Amino acid sequence: HPSLNQRYTFDNFVIGENNNFAANAALAISKNPGTAYNPCLVYGGVGLGKTHLIQSIGNTVYQDIDNAKIIFVSAEEFTNDFLNALREKQTAQFKNKYRYADVLLIDDIHFLQGKEETQEELFHTFNALYEANKQMVFTCDRPVSELRQLKDRLRNRFERGLNVDLKPPSFETRLAILQKKLEQSNRNIPESVLNLICSNVTTNVRDLEKALTRILAYAELVGKDITEEVARQQLKDIFVTHHQASINIDFIQRAVADYFNLTTNELKSKKRTAAIAFPRQVAMYIARQITELSTTEVGLEFGGRDHTTVMYACQKIENKMKSDSTIEPMVKRLIRDIRESNA
Ligand code: ADP
Ligand code: MG
Repeated sequence: HPSLNQRYTFDNFVIGENNNFAANAALAISKNPGTAYNPCLVYGGVGLGKTHLIQSIGNTVYQDIDNAKIIFVSAEEFTNDFLNALREKQTAQFKNKYRYADVLLIDDIHFLQGKEETQEELFHTFNALYEANKQMVFTCDRPVSELRQLKDRLRNRFERGLNVDLKPPSFETRLAILQKKLEQSNRNIPESVLNLICSNVTTNVRDLEKALTRILAYAELVGKDITEEVARQQLKDIFVTHHQASINIDFIQRAVADYFNLTTNELKSKKRTAAIAFPRQVAMYIARQITELSTTEVGLEFGGRDHTTVMYACQKIENKMKSDSTIEPMVKRLIRDIRESNA
């Protein structure tokens, strides 16, 4: 298939506790497109396998069903395609192309934010395909409820089917991914080096692959054995950028929300009940402790609150840590967990 990468197959996709829901949904869809889980939206952070999964669906259907009309595009390509059609007055051809697909796969729909005309067009494409029971699968870098500049009626369409998330892989799954890649390339590296990579690259499969590729290339081109020391030296920048990129505010919000059994939307909402206000203050405090963000920036990330609210929250948590001996260990544990799963 011209627009699919053959490397992205289910065979090459390691299933772990972080992705089994999404992976099994994708598998089910690829076996029975248009019947089960339509539409489906897979969301998750960068490098967690969204493109791999959505293309695996395309590759499987392409193999199994003769003459199935499969379209795979990024949301950016869809947008450009639409704008070109508008410019060249070929919207009829555009509609024909997309509205008669059997399987429509659109990657990275967060790109559509603020693009109102394209959203409008996709809304109509969606309706046409949905009415005809044609399979649609989308990916997004966050839950669609968190896309600020998406028209409600399109958001509502995305939310209509199954929405599943991809989480960062656990240590064991990271190891399994690297082992699979070694197996496929018929190569080997010492277990201690595998462990080193898995402990330092924690939230992103793409970086995990990058680290392995670098180490294998080094062994091949420089002809040296890979020791932990060599690996540490060679992977310095991956380890560092990974670390810096990792502690972002979304991650903190998610960890704190999870801990208190809330959603991140609740944390960011205007609600001021104690059950939400306290966790929100904890999240703001942690954000100030372990990111470089200013009080103004933190406030913006919590539903556009004022920087004084953030200052107040931090003060409040500091006071509570003094007056209530259970608070400090809880906050410290959260910080440690956040750092650890990011390290
Ligand atoms: P995303 O689209 O979410 O940013 P990708 O699908 O591009 O992520 O994945 C990044 C890289 O990691 C790809 O090379 C992909 O093959 C690989 N990858 C991601 N998840 C897995 C997995 N569970 N098993 C094997 N490889 C994976
Ligand atoms: Mg992708």
